[in-house]
Amino acid sequence: MADASKNKKSASGRQDKLRRDFIANVSHELRSPLTSLLGFIETLQADNGLDAAMRQRFLGIMQAEALRMSRLIDDLLSLARVERDEHIPPTTAIFIEDVIRSAVTSLANQAQRRGHTMVFSDECKNKQQPPRIWGDTDEIIQLLRNLLDNAMKYGATGVPITIRLCEAGEAADNDSTPRIRLDVVNKGDGIPAQHIPRLTERFYRVDKGRSRDMGGTGLGLAIVKHIITRHRGRLAISSEVAGETVFSVFLPLCAEDDV
Ligand code: ADP
Repeated sequence: MADASKNKKSASGRQDKLRRDFIANVSHELRSPLTSLLGFIETLQADNGLDAAMRQRFLGIMQAEALRMSRLIDDLLSLARVERDEHIPPTTAIFIEDVIRSAVTSLANQAQRRGHTMVFSDECKNKQQPPRIWGDTDEIIQLLRNLLDNAMKYGATGVPITIRLCEAGEAADNDSTPRIRLDVVNKGDGIPAQHIPRLTERFYRVDKGRSRDMGGTGLGLAIVKHIITRHRGRLAISSEVAGETVFSVFLPLCAEDDV
């Protein structure tokens, strides 16, 4: 009894610490673009004979900082939403191939602008019965967007990003549900092994400066993790330094009799 109450206390102590760290991180992430914006506003107000080119340059930086804050707030709202719904399993049977195609099509222009191409490799063998999962279409699209956005940010340009779908077999001895595996593959600098277990933590980045330069918020993979949990799936990450990085999402398939 004493042990149980001690464990409960230490779990709630950990939760408190996580909450405090999160608030400190959010405040810090918002403060730096805000400080920079305030600095430029002051400079523009003082004028000091700034020429037009200089004013335009400052306005460009201010716009980039404001957009950074806006992206951060969008991701914080997405994170709050996926966390809230994490314990409500989706009840719609969706054709996963269709969702992938729609996500790839909607991102194609953006990919081209950023110097990337995307290839969907559908390796599912049973063409008569396209795979279905119990899923939330918007969340699966968001998951793909986040993974593909990362593949574009950290992948080498000119090398295609591959989205691969295949049957993955059963999860474990005590779970006989067949699964699907969705891989997002890019080539690039890769991720040193010691960072891999921490990548889905909020605000964890391998290289903070690089993430920031690429427009990252440090929340993309935390959102992905919550979406996968809601779909009773699993995420596996493998990466070779200066080689292929693969984010694999395992998702349980609907049993055809249940649909
Ligand atoms: P960010 O907004 O910084 O990209 P994420 O949560 O999406 O945040 O990713 C966390 C970190 O994981 C990134 O900062 C980056 O260091 C690393 N990362 C994610 N995807 C890749 C990838 N495809 N290749 C290399 N590193 C990656």
